[in-house]
Amino acid sequence: YEKIQHLKKLNRIYTWGEDIPNPFIDFSELKLPEVLIKNLTTFQIKEPTPIQMQSIPILLAKRDLLACAPTGSGKTLAFILPVVLNYLKLKKSFQRRLFAIVLEPTRVLARQTYMNFVKTCHNLPITCAFLDDNRFPEKANIIISSPKRLIFSWNQPDFDKTRLKSLRWLIVDESDRLFDHSDSSGQNFKDQLDAIIHECNGKFLKLAFFSATFSYELEDWCKNKLNDLATICIGSRNS
Ligand code: ADP
Ligand code: MG
Repeated sequence: YEKIQHLKKLNRIYTWGEDIPNPFIDFSELKLPEVLIKNLTTFQIKEPTPIQMQSIPILLAKRDLLACAPTGSGKTLAFILPVVLNYLKLKKSFQRRLFAIVLEPTRVLARQTYMNFVKTCHNLPITCAFLDDNRFPEKANIIISSPKRLIFSWNQPDFDKTRLKSLRWLIVDESDRLFDHSDSSGQNFKDQLDAIIHECNGKFLKLAFFSATFSYELEDWCKNKLNDLATICIGSRNS
């Protein structure tokens, strides 16, 4: 216990919530498939960053998460790895089915995150798609999109809403921007989020919010809507 406290203090990992799983230190602890280790090595990933140390065990334990860590601290991989690992474990029942949606505030960020998924999943049996001007992809396991694009695509007459029922993960990246900023239709986003949760309505759906700054509004929303929430802040709460 003291060792864990020391590790968290050293890496400035602060957590709130019941039964928070311990952070890990070395990628070998995750028992990653060979291909995945190789993919990480090709883009110089050797050790986890503090947000990855703590968020990956929480998401692997299938907990709802509110995570806050500075820009450039590796938040993308902090959700890509657990989602991919979780998918690989369940893939027999998820082939051609939708497993996760990742929301980004802009199309540019959505494309970047999509590229990160593609690199990480190279040679793995998992299909990722960037929702652009195309229709909702038929067979994708993971879809990366802006909320606007997502809602637009599933409002098309030929969209089969039962596709959403298999969804296990909804990741909201840069969630402070989606919640707080009036210019990017913050009010709208909460409605969109409610609509997504309503459509997916699966008891297995888990939500994870990532952002660079802590938002009390978002925390309130999470506390109201989610049970058994885990919260992480790296550094200070108002960095
Ligand atoms: P954030 O979303 O927190 O702003 P990113 O996920 O975009 O940060 O990561 C920033 C950079 O750090 C990227 O170039 C990414 O490849 C790199 N990175 C992520 N995790 C690690 C790691 N464990 N070791 C080394 N570099 C990493
Ligand atoms: Mg980011």
